[in-house]
Amino acid sequence: MSIDHTHDPQASSWVAGADAHADFPVQNLPLGIFSPPGARPRIGTAIGDHILDLAALATAGGLGALAPDLRAALGAPRLNPLFALDAPDRRHLRHAVFAALTDRAGHSRVAPHLRPAADCALHLPFAIGDYTDFYVGIHHATAIGRLLRPDHPLLANYKYVPIAYHGRASSVQVSGAAVIRPRGQVKTGDGPEYRACERLDYEVELGLWIAGGNALGEVVPISAASARIGGVCLLNDWSARDLQVWEYQPLGPFLAKNFLTTVSPWVVTGDALAPFRVAPMPRPAGDPAPLPYLADDEDARTGGLAITLEARLASRAMREGGLAPQCLSRVRAADAMYWTPAQMVAHHTANGCNLGPGDLLGTGTLSGAGPGSEGSLMELTRAGSQPIALASGESRRFLEDGDEVTLHARAERAGWRSIGFGPCTGTVGAAR
Ligand code: MN
Repeated sequence: MSIDHTHDPQASSWVAGADAHADFPVQNLPLGIFSPPGARPRIGTAIGDHILDLAALATAGGLGALAPDLRAALGAPRLNPLFALDAPDRRHLRHAVFAALTDRAGHSRVAPHLRPAADCALHLPFAIGDYTDFYVGIHHATAIGRLLRPDHPLLANYKYVPIAYHGRASSVQVSGAAVIRPRGQVKTGDGPEYRACERLDYEVELGLWIAGGNALGEVVPISAASARIGGVCLLNDWSARDLQVWEYQPLGPFLAKNFLTTVSPWVVTGDALAPFRVAPMPRPAGDPAPLPYLADDEDARTGGLAITLEARLASRAMREGGLAPQCLSRVRAADAMYWTPAQMVAHHTANGCNLGPGDLLGTGTLSGAGPGSEGSLMELTRAGSQPIALASGESRRFLEDGDEVTLHARAERAGWRSIGFGPCTGTVGAAR
């Protein structure tokens, strides 16, 4: 992941509106799966308010000479074959797409393959083999722990082990998917009951899309781990807190989490994020050093991500009243993550566990240290004891039917063109 001409903040695309676009200037070039009206899903890249059909452009010769594997991968209806390729092949694609969208002389050959994004449907970018959710947000882990154990909120393993659990891939859906309020077993004063969740929450997370593969039994060293992260998305780990508190011991989250996980459709590539690699959160004095298999000098310098995430809520009454969504939290990933993405990959494979292209790793809820940066309602409302006020005059302890939660994120750093992720949204519907 190195900085090259595709990151030049002065680079300009001939696509109208792209240079001024908040999320998708030509320095971004995120990959995704889209379908134009009446057509089958295919691979595209977002540029301004348009989507460039990479499969069609490649077939028409507009991306120059392509290796056979790369050409074949571009014809797939998912990104898995593309992310199975070596990193240089994917970087070659980025360079070819950048050339097509910046070379004004080639405009007439490329323009026919642009579609207005508003006319297209966006799909899940990968067939997800496996999904794992980590817990690397130390301020979140501390705040949740404090609700349970005021004296020692972080468990003894936290600063040694990047904690995670295996999630469920089948219920990972793309932004816009319906959020059906789950039913489940809830402990009441009269004993457990099966009923609709009353403490529905969201969690602000980043999703990491795995590229390449390691065979079962093959450990990925920390020095090679960063290269296994092919791209990043937004991830909302919808959570049923009343189910969770009753079911989670001793084996961890289950039905409180696996009813739905929402991801944003655009995959912001590791290459696009090269300028936004910053120092990770410093380990506070007195913390243990990471064990050697989790320690790497380069990762300690550049393993953090200068990505700012926001959660916004719009109730049904707010939308009907024309009120703008209300920002509930804002946090920079590098200030929230105790463990880096490379440490997550190195730890996940430390026992020889195989990760394949299109596997998804969630970071865990990303919350900052101070107020206004809490990445869940559980933290914002202190487990429902301190409701928050909405602009409509309503208040919230947890999510109500009709609430729309949208995550946004931007990679931003002085001297570089900032890039965005597009929205990750879902609207809560009544239990069925
Ligand atoms: Mn989570």
